[in-house]
Amino acid sequence: MSEKHRIIVIGSGPAGDTAALYTARAGLKPLVLAGFGAGGPPGGQLMLTTEIENFPGFPNGGISGPELMARMRQQAIDFGAEFRDVDVTRVDFSKQPFRIWVDDNELVAEAVIISTGARSRLLGIDGEEKLIARGLHTCATCDGAFYRNKKMIVIGGGDTAMEEASFLTRFGDVNVVHRREEFRASKTMLERAQKNPKITWTLNEQPLEYLKRDNGTVCGIKSRNTKTGEVTDIKSDGVFLAIGHIPNTDLFKGQLKMHDNGYLVTGAAAGGPKEHPNTYTSVEGVFAAGDVQDHTYRQAITAAGTGCMAAIDAERWLAARE
Ligand SMILES: Cc1cc2nc3c(=O)[nH]c(=O)nc-3n(C[C@H](O)[C@H](O)[C@H](O)COP(=O)(O)OP(=O)(O)OC[C@H]3O[C@@H](n4cnc5c(N)ncnc54)[C@H](O)[C@@H]3O)c2cc1C
Repeated sequence: MSEKHRIIVIGSGPAGDTAALYTARAGLKPLVLAGFGAGGPPGGQLMLTTEIENFPGFPNGGISGPELMARMRQQAIDFGAEFRDVDVTRVDFSKQPFRIWVDDNELVAEAVIISTGARSRLLGIDGEEKLIARGLHTCATCDGAFYRNKKMIVIGGGDTAMEEASFLTRFGDVNVVHRREEFRASKTMLERAQKNPKITWTLNEQPLEYLKRDNGTVCGIKSRNTKTGEVTDIKSDGVFLAIGHIPNTDLFKGQLKMHDNGYLVTGAAAGGPKEHPNTYTSVEGVFAAGDVQDHTYRQAITAAGTGCMAAIDAERWLAARE
């Protein structure tokens, strides 16, 4: 016998927790399959960081990522949401009720909110994940302000790298390190960065490892020149990776419409209502919120905002079926 639910939320970052809070307050008793590791820890990407200074409501230095996520979860539980720290391993959205598996356990739900987020692409250097937020960063908007009047390295050669490098010059000097001479970035973005006097360029360099201070925080990279083979230390106060993100959508391949980059398509483009922005996916009754469908903003507050939208969309969709 499969376990029946009106609504299941997959993922417990700011999007999933906000969706859980709203659907719980609407009396829908959501079950949150909060994740366990496949696509990041329960609590999502903010569990990997220290201070969050840009989530409204926390002045005087902000709040730590794990503390913010613990509060979000508790607030949803207070209104009746149930959380299980497990990974969803398979879904079937081909017919109602939707079927969701956690290993061999099958659950069914009338409506589903997907909030499985995305993860930053890393270089693949041993122990790299443990250095995130310890001098190694994956989001300039989030962490640039920690580097006022400091020197930063941005690794990458695409539009994101150009955008992040340009943005970071508000705080300090930036050295763009790229493994080739050619850039994937668009001409406009590249030229804008090239005209910026606070950006220097270190090309044909392949990072080999991170340089670390005595306290273990990152202070640059050791890299090899792809033309000469020479190995050098490139020092900085912090390193920003800008080599892309991977949405956690493997689970939904062949079931939901996706953009070429793997992010879920939502709203009118997925077949949802045309009159207003919304979180409908290409399967009616399945909604998506947060970074899993947002390759533009990727912030905790926008994830929470779309989590709220998904909860309201789902609640109204369920009510219309009654
Ligand atoms: C180091 C770092 C620092 C950041 N700092 C800031 C900041 O200062 N301010 C800011 O606004 N933003 C910051 N961000 C960005 C912010 O964390 C994200 O925009 C936000 O967390 C996205 O929320 P989300 O709910 O969409 O997804 P996520 O937070 O990515 O959560 C995804 C959830 O889905 C779960 N999941 C994935 N796969 C499965 C599965 N198969 N089954 C079940 N669950 C699954 C995961 O376990 C997780 O619970 C930072 C990100 C990083 C990495």
